[in-house]
Amino acid sequence: MAIESRNPFNNEVIKSFKEETDQQIVDKIELAEKSYDDWRTTNFTQRKELMLKSAILLRDRKEHYASLMTMEMGKAKREAIAEIEKCALACDYYAENAEKFLSDKPLEVPKGEAYVAHDPIGIVLAIMPWNFPFWQVFRFAAPNLMAGNVGLLKHASNVPQCALAIEEVFVDAGFPKGCFQTLLVSSSKVNMILDDKRVKAATLTGSEAAGSKVAERAGKNLKKTVLELGGSDPFIVLKDADIQEAAKTGVKARMINNGQSCIAAKRFILEESIADDFLKIFQSEFENIKIGDPSKDEFDYGSMAREDLAKELEEQVQKSVEKGAKVLIGGKRDKAFFEPTVLTDVKPGMPAYEEELFGPVAVVLIAKDEKHAIELANDSRFGLGGSLWSKDIKKAKKLVREVESGAVYINKLMASHPAVPFGGIKMSGYGRELSEMGIKEFVNQKTVWVD
Ligand code: NDP
Repeated sequence: MAIESRNPFNNEVIKSFKEETDQQIVDKIELAEKSYDDWRTTNFTQRKELMLKSAILLRDRKEHYASLMTMEMGKAKREAIAEIEKCALACDYYAENAEKFLSDKPLEVPKGEAYVAHDPIGIVLAIMPWNFPFWQVFRFAAPNLMAGNVGLLKHASNVPQCALAIEEVFVDAGFPKGCFQTLLVSSSKVNMILDDKRVKAATLTGSEAAGSKVAERAGKNLKKTVLELGGSDPFIVLKDADIQEAAKTGVKARMINNGQSCIAAKRFILEESIADDFLKIFQSEFENIKIGDPSKDEFDYGSMAREDLAKELEEQVQKSVEKGAKVLIGGKRDKAFFEPTVLTDVKPGMPAYEEELFGPVAVVLIAKDEKHAIELANDSRFGLGGSLWSKDIKKAKKLVREVESGAVYINKLMASHPAVPFGGIKMSGYGRELSEMGIKEFVNQKTVWVD
């Protein structure tokens, strides 16, 4: 894929970039290594000052950075601004908490003094996707820079201007040269970077295919990885739920980021007795989505991020319909635009049942009872997030323990936050980002025992 900014709403190529050469990649790794030698010796106060400055710059420049995202991958400008604000929040969060999270943890031992110290490990490679072009990177960069690591970013090929803008934030905030660098390279260069002994670990957010390839190569080199891959999150509505609230939130949960979020609600699992009532509100909310130019405030949705992604979604929907699924609303594509769609009568064996639908398509499944709802939720190879709706919180808390996923929210829109761990099980990946758990993924948890 060419490294270029192409506005998916009007298919206009805004800017093309030349891929960096092998020599340029090696030079950047060398600079990162040199930078790490100094950066690892800085203290938390020094790091905190620069991280807080990064947050200020993000807030000051949010209009500009949000426009870049909207232009390169089509998200609604309103959502893009919220994304920049969330990145600033992550910078603040780790600036304030990193020292506490990484302080020595005393151990109970039979004799002497023992504790776990947390040392940085060096260069971490981040392979990131286009869907949240800033957020995915900041939730890696903020904890890792605070931990004393340095970062190399290989961003998705369709968001190069976002990738460069992120480097600019850290440079302008005063981080030493080489602490955080963007590599404008295609995925074919990733193996070469992973093979370099100076690169100590990798984190990837993206598809299962990309995750599996990166984990394989990192495994060959015995390097640690964190993988945040796809999801097909269940949105379980029990008969004692607030149906109105659940249906309204459900549409938001499906349509966030034009339906292109790993933790978007994808499978709406409804208890039979409330299914019709839920679907009436759900459908009317779907019909109210305002479609138009995403750079204008009045519109919710303009297009998906790339035409090939919309085509793939169309194929999944068409194949499901051929096998008996019904289109309640939507179902059609025009270039990168795919209509907000609701599919019912979805059964095992259909792509809409088995696969992740990474776009504005909601899948409806009907459950006979609570037990069946949980069975349907778990009948997926993914296990990232999910939500469960019921007014009986005691029961809900018990039921969510049965759901096979990295997170389940009760009566709440599933969304990430710097203070809560984020990550999946099954084919959704492994490891955790954010919170105290996230900052500890790429540090050496060193045991020290004094006699
Ligand atoms: P990819 O997984 O292909 O891209 C994500 C990142 O991985 C990009 O930086 C990409 O680089 C890189 N990459 C891709 N293949 C390899 C590889 N073999 N080795 C190393 N790096 C690689 O996602 P797509 O953009 O193609 O989207 C396809 C599907 O992936 C979506 O429909 C969705 O299901 C899933 N996805 C999930 C996301 C999530 O948040 N979990 C985010 C985005 C996509 P490059 O762009 O240069 O190919």
